[in-house]
Amino acid sequence: MQLKGKVAYVTGAASGLGKAIAKLYAEEGAKVAIADLNLEAARVAASELQAAGCEAIGLGVDVTNEEQVEQSVAATVKALGGIDILISNAGIQIVHPIEEFTFADWRKMLAIHLDGAFLTTRACMKHMIDQKRGGAIIYMGSVHSKEASVLKAPYVTAKHGLMGLSKTVAKEGAKYGIRSNVICPGFVRTPLVDNQIPEQAQALGITNEQVIKNVMLKDTVDGEFTTVDDVARVALLFAAFPTNALTGQSLNVSHGWSMT
Ligand code: NAD
Repeated sequence: MQLKGKVAYVTGAASGLGKAIAKLYAEEGAKVAIADLNLEAARVAASELQAAGCEAIGLGVDVTNEEQVEQSVAATVKALGGIDILISNAGIQIVHPIEEFTFADWRKMLAIHLDGAFLTTRACMKHMIDQKRGGAIIYMGSVHSKEASVLKAPYVTAKHGLMGLSKTVAKEGAKYGIRSNVICPGFVRTPLVDNQIPEQAQALGITNEQVIKNVMLKDTVDGEFTTVDDVARVALLFAAFPTNALTGQSLNVSHGWSMT
Protein backbone atom coordinates (compact mmCIF):
# COMPACT_ATOMS: atom_id res chain seq x y z
CA MET A 1 0.00 0.00 0.00
CA GLN A 2 2.55 2.58 -1.13
CA LEU A 3 -0.06 5.23 -1.99
CA LYS A 4 -2.49 4.87 0.89
CA GLY A 5 -4.51 8.08 1.40
CA LYS A 6 -3.17 9.74 -1.77
CA VAL A 7 -5.40 11.13 -4.53
CA ALA A 8 -4.32 10.70 -8.16
CA TYR A 9 -5.71 12.49 -11.24
CA VAL A 10 -4.79 10.46 -14.33
CA THR A 11 -5.52 11.77 -17.83
CA GLY A 12 -6.19 9.40 -20.71
CA ALA A 13 -6.90 6.76 -18.09
CA ALA A 14 -9.76 5.04 -19.90
CA SER A 15 -7.29 3.07 -22.06
CA GLY A 16 -3.76 1.76 -22.39
CA LEU A 17 -1.01 3.10 -20.15
CA GLY A 18 -3.20 5.49 -18.14
CA LYS A 19 -5.68 2.74 -17.35
CA ALA A 20 -2.92 0.41 -16.12
CA ILE A 21 -1.41 3.17 -13.96
CA ALA A 22 -4.81 4.03 -12.45
CA LYS A 23 -5.36 0.36 -11.61
CA LEU A 24 -1.96 -0.10 -9.96
CA TYR A 25 -2.35 3.15 -8.02
CA ALA A 26 -5.79 2.05 -6.78
CA GLU A 27 -4.35 -1.33 -5.75
CA GLU A 28 -1.67 0.59 -3.83
CA GLY A 29 -4.34 2.46 -1.86
CA ALA A 30 -4.80 5.67 -3.88
CA LYS A 31 -8.16 7.26 -4.67
CA VAL A 32 -8.17 7.72 -8.43
CA ALA A 33 -9.82 10.13 -10.88
CA ILE A 34 -10.01 8.62 -14.36
CA ALA A 35 -10.03 11.71 -16.60
CA ASP A 36 -10.55 11.00 -20.29
CA LEU A 37 -12.04 12.47 -23.45
CA ASN A 38 -14.19 9.34 -23.59
CA LEU A 39 -16.55 9.83 -20.63
CA GLU A 40 -18.32 6.50 -21.10
CA ALA A 41 -15.03 4.55 -21.08
CA ALA A 42 -13.82 6.61 -18.08
CA ARG A 43 -16.96 5.67 -16.15
CA VAL A 44 -16.52 1.99 -17.06
CA ALA A 45 -12.87 2.04 -15.94
CA ALA A 46 -13.84 3.74 -12.66
CA SER A 47 -16.64 1.24 -12.02
CA GLU A 48 -14.19 -1.64 -12.57
CA LEU A 49 -11.98 -0.20 -9.83
CA GLN A 50 -14.99 0.39 -7.56
CA ALA A 51 -16.04 -3.24 -8.08
CA ALA A 52 -12.59 -4.25 -6.80
CA GLY A 53 -13.21 -2.22 -3.62
CA CYS A 54 -11.24 0.89 -4.64
CA GLU A 55 -12.34 4.52 -4.59
CA ALA A 56 -12.50 5.96 -8.12
CA ILE A 57 -14.43 8.46 -10.22
CA GLY A 58 -14.75 8.75 -14.00
CA LEU A 59 -14.61 12.24 -15.54
CA GLY A 60 -15.07 13.45 -19.12
CA VAL A 61 -12.39 16.01 -19.97
CA ASP A 62 -10.63 17.28 -23.06
CA VAL A 63 -7.15 18.18 -21.78
CA THR A 64 -6.87 20.96 -24.37
CA ASN A 65 -9.89 22.75 -22.89
CA GLU A 66 -8.90 25.13 -20.09
CA GLU A 67 -12.33 25.29 -18.48
CA GLN A 68 -12.87 21.52 -18.55
CA VAL A 69 -9.46 20.87 -17.00
CA GLU A 70 -10.02 23.40 -14.21
CA GLN A 71 -13.49 22.01 -13.50
CA SER A 72 -12.50 18.35 -13.50
CA VAL A 73 -9.51 18.93 -11.20
CA ALA A 74 -11.75 20.93 -8.84
CA ALA A 75 -14.33 18.11 -8.98
CA THR A 76 -11.59 15.61 -8.09
CA VAL A 77 -10.47 17.68 -5.11
CA LYS A 78 -14.07 17.94 -3.90
CA ALA A 79 -14.99 14.28 -4.43
CA LEU A 80 -11.76 12.62 -3.30
CA GLY A 81 -10.41 15.08 -0.73
CA GLY A 82 -7.48 16.80 -2.45
CA ILE A 83 -4.89 16.04 -5.09
CA ASP A 84 -1.45 14.49 -4.56
CA ILE A 85 -0.47 12.97 -7.91
CA LEU A 86 -0.96 14.12 -11.50
CA ILE A 87 -0.30 11.73 -14.33
CA SER A 88 -0.35 13.83 -17.51
CA ASN A 89 -0.75 10.97 -19.95
CA ALA A 90 -3.51 11.67 -22.50
CA GLY A 91 -2.11 11.48 -26.00
CA ILE A 92 -2.64 10.52 -29.60
CA GLN A 93 -0.41 9.75 -32.55
CA ILE A 94 -0.57 11.06 -36.13
CA VAL A 95 2.13 9.95 -38.58
CA HIS A 96 3.04 11.68 -41.87
CA PRO A 97 6.20 12.92 -43.57
CA ILE A 98 6.78 16.59 -42.65
CA GLU A 99 6.01 17.83 -46.14
CA GLU A 100 2.57 16.21 -45.95
CA PHE A 101 1.69 17.22 -42.37
CA THR A 102 -1.25 19.61 -42.25
CA PHE A 103 -0.94 22.60 -39.93
CA ALA A 104 -4.20 21.50 -38.29
CA ASP A 105 -2.74 18.09 -37.38
CA TRP A 106 0.50 19.68 -36.13
CA ARG A 107 -1.49 22.02 -33.87
CA LYS A 108 -3.77 19.21 -32.66
CA MET A 109 -0.76 17.11 -31.62
CA LEU A 110 0.94 19.97 -29.78
CA ALA A 111 -2.35 20.97 -28.13
CA ILE A 112 -3.07 17.52 -26.69
CA HIS A 113 0.49 16.74 -25.60
CA LEU A 114 1.77 20.18 -24.53
CA ASP A 115 -1.26 22.40 -23.83
CA GLY A 116 -2.80 19.43 -22.01
CA ALA A 117 0.32 18.97 -19.88
CA PHE A 118 0.46 22.70 -19.05
CA LEU A 119 -3.23 23.04 -18.20
CA THR A 120 -3.37 19.95 -15.98
CA THR A 121 -0.08 20.91 -14.29
CA ARG A 122 -1.30 24.42 -13.50
CA ALA A 123 -4.66 23.22 -12.21
CA CYS A 124 -3.14 20.50 -9.99
CA MET A 125 -0.19 22.59 -8.77
CA LYS A 126 -2.50 25.33 -7.49
CA HIS A 127 -4.33 22.81 -5.32
CA MET A 128 -1.11 21.08 -4.23
CA ILE A 129 0.38 24.42 -3.12
CA ASP A 130 -2.80 25.36 -1.20
CA GLN A 131 -2.96 21.94 0.49
CA LYS A 132 0.64 22.16 1.73
CA ARG A 133 1.20 18.41 1.50
CA GLY A 134 3.54 18.31 -1.52
CA GLY A 135 2.82 16.28 -4.62
CA ALA A 136 4.08 14.30 -7.59
CA ILE A 137 3.65 15.48 -11.16
CA ILE A 138 4.45 12.82 -13.72
CA TYR A 139 4.46 13.25 -17.49
CA MET A 140 4.07 10.46 -20.01
CA GLY A 141 7.01 11.21 -22.24
CA SER A 142 8.46 8.60 -24.56
CA VAL A 143 11.77 7.40 -25.91
CA HIS A 144 10.74 10.10 -28.41
CA SER A 145 11.49 12.64 -25.64
CA LYS A 146 15.14 11.82 -26.42
CA GLU A 147 15.26 10.25 -29.89
CA ALA A 148 13.65 11.11 -33.22
CA SER A 149 11.90 8.87 -35.71
CA VAL A 150 10.72 9.56 -39.22
CA LEU A 151 7.04 10.47 -39.77
CA LYS A 152 6.59 11.77 -36.20
CA ALA A 153 7.63 15.45 -36.26
CA PRO A 154 4.96 16.87 -33.90
CA TYR A 155 5.05 13.85 -31.56
CA VAL A 156 8.84 14.02 -31.18
CA THR A 157 8.68 17.81 -30.77
CA ALA A 158 5.98 17.60 -28.10
CA LYS A 159 7.61 14.75 -26.19
CA HIS A 160 10.92 16.65 -26.11
CA GLY A 161 8.97 19.70 -24.89
CA LEU A 162 7.61 17.79 -21.90
CA MET A 163 11.18 17.37 -20.64
CA GLY A 164 11.55 21.15 -20.46
CA LEU A 165 8.22 21.62 -18.72
CA SER A 166 9.03 18.89 -16.20
CA LYS A 167 12.43 20.37 -15.31
CA THR A 168 10.83 23.80 -14.80
CA VAL A 169 8.09 22.31 -12.60
CA ALA A 170 10.81 20.52 -10.59
CA LYS A 171 12.52 23.87 -9.90
CA GLU A 172 9.36 25.86 -9.17
CA GLY A 173 7.73 23.05 -7.19
CA ALA A 174 10.68 22.21 -4.95
CA LYS A 175 9.85 24.68 -2.21
CA TYR A 176 6.36 23.17 -1.95
CA GLY A 177 7.58 19.56 -1.94
CA ILE A 178 6.20 19.07 -5.45
CA ARG A 179 8.34 16.73 -7.53
CA SER A 180 8.21 16.36 -11.32
CA ASN A 181 9.46 13.52 -13.49
CA VAL A 182 9.02 12.04 -16.97
CA ILE A 183 8.44 8.39 -17.89
CA CYS A 184 9.92 7.49 -21.27
CA PRO A 185 8.43 4.22 -22.56
CA GLY A 186 9.41 2.36 -25.69
CA PHE A 187 6.68 0.79 -27.81
CA VAL A 188 3.77 -0.69 -25.86
CA ARG A 189 0.91 -2.58 -27.57
CA THR A 190 -1.94 -0.17 -26.82
CA PRO A 191 -4.58 1.11 -29.29
CA LEU A 192 -2.25 4.07 -29.99
CA VAL A 193 0.45 1.73 -31.29
CA ASP A 194 -1.83 -0.86 -32.90
CA ASN A 195 -3.39 1.88 -35.03
CA GLN A 196 -0.07 3.19 -36.29
CA ILE A 197 1.36 -0.16 -37.42
CA PRO A 198 -0.68 -0.29 -40.68
CA GLU A 199 -0.27 3.48 -41.14
CA GLN A 200 3.52 3.23 -40.93
CA ALA A 201 3.50 0.14 -43.17
CA GLN A 202 1.67 2.09 -45.83
CA ALA A 203 3.83 5.22 -45.48
CA LEU A 204 7.09 3.23 -45.60
CA GLY A 205 5.94 0.65 -48.20
CA ILE A 206 6.64 -2.36 -45.93
CA THR A 207 4.54 -5.01 -44.16
CA ASN A 208 3.04 -4.77 -40.66
CA GLU A 209 5.51 -7.41 -39.45
CA GLN A 210 8.43 -5.40 -40.86
CA VAL A 211 7.18 -2.27 -39.04
CA ILE A 212 7.21 -4.20 -35.74
CA LYS A 213 10.56 -5.91 -36.26
CA ASN A 214 12.55 -3.39 -38.28
CA VAL A 215 11.11 -0.09 -37.04
CA MET A 216 9.52 -0.41 -33.60
CA LEU A 217 11.70 -3.01 -31.91
CA LYS A 218 14.85 -2.71 -34.03
CA ASP A 219 16.98 -1.01 -31.37
CA THR A 220 15.75 -2.89 -28.29
CA VAL A 221 18.18 -5.31 -26.63
CA ASP A 222 15.83 -8.28 -27.02
CA GLY A 223 13.16 -7.51 -29.66
CA GLU A 224 10.45 -7.26 -26.99
CA PHE A 225 7.60 -4.82 -26.53
CA THR A 226 7.43 -2.91 -23.24
CA THR A 227 4.16 -3.64 -21.38
CA VAL A 228 1.60 -1.43 -19.67
CA ASP A 229 2.57 -3.09 -16.37
CA ASP A 230 6.25 -2.18 -16.88
CA VAL A 231 5.25 1.45 -17.32
CA ALA A 232 2.84 1.41 -14.36
CA ARG A 233 5.66 0.22 -12.08
CA VAL A 234 7.79 3.20 -13.06
CA ALA A 235 4.79 5.48 -12.47
CA LEU A 236 4.48 3.98 -8.99
CA LEU A 237 8.16 4.60 -8.25
CA PHE A 238 7.85 8.29 -9.16
CA ALA A 239 4.58 8.71 -7.24
CA ALA A 240 5.73 6.95 -4.06
CA PHE A 241 9.25 8.38 -3.83
CA PRO A 242 9.26 10.44 -0.64
CA THR A 243 11.75 13.29 -1.20
CA ASN A 244 12.96 15.92 -3.66
CA ALA A 245 16.02 13.72 -4.34
CA LEU A 246 14.12 12.25 -7.30
CA THR A 247 12.89 15.26 -9.27
CA GLY A 248 13.56 16.76 -12.68
CA GLN A 249 14.46 13.29 -13.96
CA SER A 250 13.35 10.98 -16.74
CA LEU A 251 13.42 7.21 -16.82
CA ASN A 252 13.45 5.06 -19.95
CA VAL A 253 11.42 1.87 -19.84
CA SER A 254 12.08 0.57 -23.32
CA HIS A 255 13.99 -2.74 -23.35
CA GLY A 256 17.17 -0.76 -23.90
CA TRP A 257 15.98 1.05 -27.03
CA SER A 258 17.26 4.28 -25.50
CA MET A 259 20.14 4.23 -23.03
CA THR A 260 20.53 8.01 -22.67
P1 NAD B 1 -4.30 4.89 -25.79
O1 NAD B 1 -4.82 5.30 -27.13
O2 NAD B 1 -4.49 3.49 -25.34
O3 NAD B 1 -4.90 5.84 -24.67
C1 NAD B 1 -4.92 7.24 -24.81
C2 NAD B 1 -6.11 7.78 -24.04
O4 NAD B 1 -6.05 9.21 -24.11
C3 NAD B 1 -7.47 7.36 -24.63
O5 NAD B 1 -8.31 6.84 -23.61
C4 NAD B 1 -8.03 8.66 -25.21
O6 NAD B 1 -9.45 8.74 -25.12
C5 NAD B 1 -7.35 9.70 -24.31
N1 NAD B 1 -7.31 11.02 -24.94
C6 NAD B 1 -6.95 11.32 -26.22
N2 NAD B 1 -7.08 12.64 -26.42
C7 NAD B 1 -7.50 13.18 -25.25
C8 NAD B 1 -7.82 14.51 -24.84
N3 NAD B 1 -7.73 15.54 -25.68
N4 NAD B 1 -8.22 14.70 -23.57
C9 NAD B 1 -8.34 13.66 -22.71
N5 NAD B 1 -8.07 12.38 -23.05
C10 NAD B 1 -7.66 12.15 -24.32
O7 NAD B 1 -2.75 5.28 -25.84
P2 NAD B 1 -1.53 4.92 -24.88
O8 NAD B 1 -0.56 4.15 -25.69
O9 NAD B 1 -1.98 4.40 -23.58
O10 NAD B 1 -0.89 6.38 -24.72
C11 NAD B 1 -0.91 7.12 -23.51
C12 NAD B 1 0.29 8.05 -23.51
O11 NAD B 1 1.49 7.26 -23.55
C13 NAD B 1 0.38 9.02 -24.67
O12 NAD B 1 0.81 10.28 -24.21
C14 NAD B 1 1.43 8.40 -25.55
O13 NAD B 1 2.08 9.35 -26.35
C15 NAD B 1 2.34 7.80 -24.52
N6 NAD B 1 3.23 6.75 -25.00
C16 NAD B 1 2.73 5.61 -25.54
C17 NAD B 1 3.60 4.63 -25.98
C18 NAD B 1 3.12 3.35 -26.59
O14 NAD B 1 3.94 2.64 -27.18
N7 NAD B 1 1.86 2.99 -26.46
C19 NAD B 1 4.99 4.82 -25.86
C20 NAD B 1 5.46 5.98 -25.30
C21 NAD B 1 4.57 6.95 -24.87
